Amino acid sequence: MEDCIFCKIANGEIPSSYVYETENVYVINDIAPKAKHHMLVIPKKHYKDLTEVDNVALLAELMSVVKEVTKKIGLKEYRVMINNGKSAGQEVFHLHIHILANQ
Ligand code: AMP
Repeated sequence: MEDCIFCKIANGEIPSSYVYETENVYVINDIAPKAKHHMLVIPKKHYKDLTEVDNVALLAELMSVVKEVTKKIGLKEYRVMINNGKSAGQEVFHLHIHILANQ
């Protein structure tokens, strides 16, 4: 989607280093970390928020990536969060899952 920062990262228009990647999902470090570890798990395809996703396999892949990337980094204690919609604190309207850890 035009003018979407996470789409631009997904298609290489904005350089970023992936922490982890699968066919449909990538993980980056948050640019303004709110914890010692703060990563974002992001579908490569644009969905403005969780309400737009009917693809259960993608939802499973997103949570699977949460497990895989935390395991890879050695995190056992962490918080997983989605801000879904403006009044819930969402600022980037391309679905993403926050992983926060102070371990
Ligand atoms: P949310 O409030 O859930 O929409 O969170 C958006 C998050 O994206 C914030 O924590 C931002 O710091 C983060 N963010 C915005 N732009 C970038 C970027 N270019 N690279 C990494 N993280 C970003």
